[in-house]
Formats: sequence, C-alpha cells, structure tokens
Amino acid sequence: MNTQLHSNALHELDRQHFVHPVSSWQGHEARGVRILKSAKGATVTDSEGRQLLDGFAGLWCVNAGYGHESVVEAAAEQMRRLPYATGYFDLGSEAPIKLAAELADRAPGDLNHIFFTLGGSDAVDSTIRFVRYYWHSKGQPNKDQYISVEQGYHGSTSAGAGLTALPAFHDGFGVPFNWQHKIPSHYLYRNPVGSDPATVIAASVAALRAKVAELGQERVAAFYVEPIQGSSGVLVPPKGWIKAMRDTCAELDILFIADEVITGFGRTGPMFACEEEGIVPDMMTTAKGLTSGYSPMGAVFLSDHVYQTIAEGAGPKAVGHGFTYSAHPVSAVVALEVLKLYEGGLFENGIKMGDRLQKGLAGLSDHPLVGDVRGRGMLAAIELVTDKDKKTPVPAELQAATRLFDRAWDNGLIIRAFPQGVFGFAPPLCCTADEIDAIVDRTKQVLDLTL
Ligand code: PLP
Repeated sequence: MNTQLHSNALHELDRQHFVHPVSSWQGHEARGVRILKSAKGATVTDSEGRQLLDGFAGLWCVNAGYGHESVVEAAAEQMRRLPYATGYFDLGSEAPIKLAAELADRAPGDLNHIFFTLGGSDAVDSTIRFVRYYWHSKGQPNKDQYISVEQGYHGSTSAGAGLTALPAFHDGFGVPFNWQHKIPSHYLYRNPVGSDPATVIAASVAALRAKVAELGQERVAAFYVEPIQGSSGVLVPPKGWIKAMRDTCAELDILFIADEVITGFGRTGPMFACEEEGIVPDMMTTAKGLTSGYSPMGAVFLSDHVYQTIAEGAGPKAVGHGFTYSAHPVSAVVALEVLKLYEGGLFENGIKMGDRLQKGLAGLSDHPLVGDVRGRGMLAAIELVTDKDKKTPVPAELQAATRLFDRAWDNGLIIRAFPQGVFGFAPPLCCTADEIDAIVDRTKQVLDLTL
C-alpha cells in the first residue's frame, strides 16, 4: 500500500475496513480517527504534524518512552537470526528462557515460574484455566467459583470479561457467567461506608467473607484484584487493603491472583505494586510495561506451590494450554532490553517524576471542578464534579469520554478520559520535570476551558 496515502483517503479506508478495539463503531464512522505517525521520548506526532505530550504512555504501556534504539536493534537482530521459535513440545529459544529467569529473580516471594502470553487478557484467561487445573490436581474439582471486585478490569476474553466489572464489556456479550461473582470496590471517594481506611478495609474483608459463605468455601477457587483499579478511573485502595484481602484468601483457602497488567514494571514506583505491602500472590499477571509496548507480550507468574501442584496433577501428560506466539523470541529480547533501560535509570526517574506528578495534580485540588485527586507514582486521576460538597458528577455531556479527550488533545496533551468525568494519567517513566509540569499545566487549561 502507498504509505504516502493522503490522510483523507486513509480516513476513508479506516472507516470502511478497520474495526477498532473498544471504540464506538457508529461514532467512529461519523468522527473518523486520529492517526499517529511517530514518537520520541514522551512526545507523539500525529498525521497533521501536531506534537502532543503523551500523558498516558499509549495505553498505559509505553513505560520506557518511545524511540529507544537499543530496543529496536535487539528486535531487528533477533528477527534476522531467529524470528520465531515455539515453546511447545519442550522446544525453546534463548531469549524467553533468559527472560523467565530474569523475571523470576525480580518477582516477589516464590513466583518462580513464568508462562508467556501475548498480552494482559490472555494472561488473565490463562490464570482462569490454571486455577481450575490446580484445584482438579488437588482433588477438589468443585472449587470452580471465581470472585473479583466491582469496577475492576481484567481484560476482554470470553472468560476474563466476566471477571471484569465494567458494563461496556458485559452488555450484549452474555457475561458474567454464573461462576463469576463480585464484591464492592474500595472506591474511597464514593464508598457508601465512607472514606476512613480502616472502615473501608473491614467492609471489603467482610464482603469477601460473606460472598465466600454464600457460595460455600468448598466451592470458591480464586479471588482477583488489581493493586490499583485502573480502567474504572484509577481507584487506589487504602494502605493495608491488599494485604488484608491476601490474608483473608490464605485463611479461606482461596487462590489470590494479583492483576499487575497496569501496575507492573515501575508504574507506581517499585517493579510490582504488590511489593508495597510485601504480599506474595499465588499467581500474578503482567503485560504492558513488560515490553513497554514495543511488541506484544504478557506473562503469568506462578508460585512454586501452584506450579508443582499442576505439574504433579498432570503427571507425564502435557498441560494443554498455550498459544503459537507464547514466549515469542522477538518480544522476549525486547523485554530483556527494556528491563535494562528500567534498571539503568528509568525506574529511578519514574519515582522522582511520579512524586512531581502527584504533587502537581494535588495542586489542582482547589480548582472548582476537581472533586478528587488520587494516584500513586506515575499513575493518577482527577475526578471532576460540579459541586464539591455534594460530589455531584459533571453533566452527562461532559462525562462523554470523547469530550474531555478532545479538549486535552487540542491543548497538546493525550490523557485518558474515563466515562464518569475522570481524567487518567500514566506518563512514560522517562518524562522530564518540564514535561510533567506541562502535563499538569495543560490539564489546568483544559479544566479552565471546561468551567
Ligand atoms: N488486566 C488489567 C488490570 C488491565 O488493565 C488490562 C488492560 O488494560 C488487561 C488485564 C488486559 O490487557 P490487554 O489489553 O493487554 O489484553
């Protein structure tokens, strides 16, 4: 295809043929798309030549920032030498083996076994299957009920979408299934039990216990959490929440699965957000920052006991789960290279810049439209209201995600606009102090325009 295609023609082709993920099919036909052409550091350039600060790191994935030649070179070299090697049937290649070892080395506790996927959704889906296999292997096949948290997001595969608790991923799709259950979110700003951390934690623990009692402890297989709920608008639990939930699962003999697809790889400061409370999940899912978006890859981390139980349960038989592109060698070298960048200064910079971002956004709290500012590290959100005391959500026409997004875009900033009038931020960890300040300043300008 002619790459110099006039952008109007490209828009037309897009309208006619490209089915966009998580987009309004009808709206997209009417509005057309914004097309990105190139990027460097934290700045992207669109097809009109406009430069924008990427305050959302693509889709909270380009943690290292754009344009790292070392990553490009490593991928090109791997493509030339061995573009593909399967991991099936006890075959393998060097890069995924090295990557698995490097990841296990950095993982919390005994999460020593790594299963590679293509992204986050199939990582979550893989855990759903591993959980079932685990309980079968333990001689408890009736443990087949799964619990997750309202307002959570765990991807959009057939099974994972039912653990997700966002209406757009359910309506019309026939999920959740009857083995998928929810407990209320910790959502501090709008929690019916109030915002006192101890009360919120106690309420979540009580809700989990009640749900397990209702289903029968002998039926409950696993509980899924995001250390910070991303896709519902960056809902940060009170300190101690995740540990309390982990401890409750251990006590009730339920597998605890931490979904670190967004929070992994320095997004909130440490390598994994679970580390903040010193907890070790039974399994952990990651993707996004693993390759920093340079190529697709996800990883499921399995603890020693989960791995051994499944291995013993299967005996000499193959554990029948995998994908043609599991452990893709090109993605694996990309991940190894990205890891070097993270540990060569990007994590450190992310911690400093995360602090600056949180302080900068906290400075917007006095703005008449800002009801709540929340976040940790390079992950943050502000929630807009029209009445701060009553926490009145902004009107529906402003809540429409596209409206806020468009205003930010016209102001040279890419952010995520969540439906309830929430701005989300997840800048690349490579941002400079000036870029963080610009993200905050431009956000303020957008708020002023919205008044
Ligand atoms: N889990 C969480 C917590 C996520 O935020 C996402 C994506 O945003 C997923 C799973 C799904 O990942 P992917 O979009 O790579 O399939």
